[in-house]
Amino acid sequence: MSDDKVISLTGRKSRPLPDGVGEAASALGLPVFEPGWVWLVGAGPGDPGLLTLHALNALRQADVVVYDALVDETVLQFAAPHAKLEYSGKRGGKPSPKQRDISAKLVELARSGKRVLRLKGGDPFVFGRGGEEALALVDAGIPFRLVPGVTAGVGGLGYAGIPVTHRDVNHAVTFVTGHMAGGNVPENLDWPSIAKGSPVIVLYMALSHLGEISRLLIENGRSANEPVALVRNATLKDQTVLETTLGRAVEDVARAEFKAPAIIVIGDVVKLREGLDWLGALEGRILKRDPLGLRGIEDAG
Ligand code: SAH
Repeated sequence: MSDDKVISLTGRKSRPLPDGVGEAASALGLPVFEPGWVWLVGAGPGDPGLLTLHALNALRQADVVVYDALVDETVLQFAAPHAKLEYSGKRGGKPSPKQRDISAKLVELARSGKRVLRLKGGDPFVFGRGGEEALALVDAGIPFRLVPGVTAGVGGLGYAGIPVTHRDVNHAVTFVTGHMAGGNVPENLDWPSIAKGSPVIVLYMALSHLGEISRLLIENGRSANEPVALVRNATLKDQTVLETTLGRAVEDVARAEFKAPAIIVIGDVVKLREGLDWLGALEGRILKRDPLGLRGIEDAG
C-alpha cells in the first residue's frame, strides 16, 4: 500500500490512543475506510485490549457504528467524534431488530455514502450472523471488508485459564450453538456425533438449554462426572467462572443464579484451570503445578 493511503490514527479528538498504538497502526499500513463501504468487524469478547488494530483503525474512521448487544461500550469511546453510534441489539425488553432490517440498514447507510462499521461481539463469522450480513451486502453490490475478532469460545476461555486444546487432553474441539434461530435446542444437530466427536465441546448461547444439552450428552455416552466450566462476561472486569460437572451443571447454575452471557466448556481441559488461572493468580491464587496429575505417570513410565 502506498504511503498516502496510510491513515494516521493520532491527532483526533476522541479518546486518544495509548502511546505508540496509533504509530504502530500507521506503520502497519492499515487500510483507508472509503465512503460507501461496510466493514464487518469483530470487537472481541469485551476487554478493549482484545480489539485488533484493524478494529481500532475502523473505529477511528467510521461515520456510523452499528453495534451489537455484546459489544462492550468502552470500545466505542475510540470512535471518531463525528461518528454516529447506532445500537442494534435488544434493549429495555424490546425485541431485537430483525436480521433482515439490520442488513437493509447497512445497505442503506452505505448507499448514502457513509463509512459503515458493523461492530459485532467476538468474531463476526462465529455464531454471529456475519456471513448473512456480508451476503446481503454482496447481493446489494456493496463493497465490504471483514475484520476477524477474538471469539469468546477461545479467548474468553483463555481468560478463565482454560486452553481449548491441550496436547494431553484433546486433538479436536467442537463448537456448538445452544440456540437455533427459533430459540429452541438445536434438534437437528446430531447429538450422538457431537457427544462422541471430540473430548472438548464449547457451547455458545447454551445457558438456557443447558439441562437438555447435558442430558443429551450423557445419554450419548459422556460421563456425568465430566468437568464443565461456565464463564460469564468473559474478559470483562466482572468475569465470573463456575466450575461444575455435566451431571450437576443445571443445579449449580440455578443455585449460583448464574446469568448469560456465558460461554460453556465441557471436557478435561477444565482441570487445567487449577494450574493456569492467571487472572486468579494476579489476586493471589496459588497455581497448581501438575493440574492433570501426569507427573506420576511420566515418572512411572
Ligand atoms: N460472535 C461471538 C458469538 C456470538 S453468539 C463470538 O465470536 O464470540 C453469543 C454468545 O457468545 C453468548 O451467548 C455467549 O455464549 C458467547 N459470548 C460472547 N461474548 C461473551 C462473553 N464476553 N462472555 C461470555 N460469553 C460470551
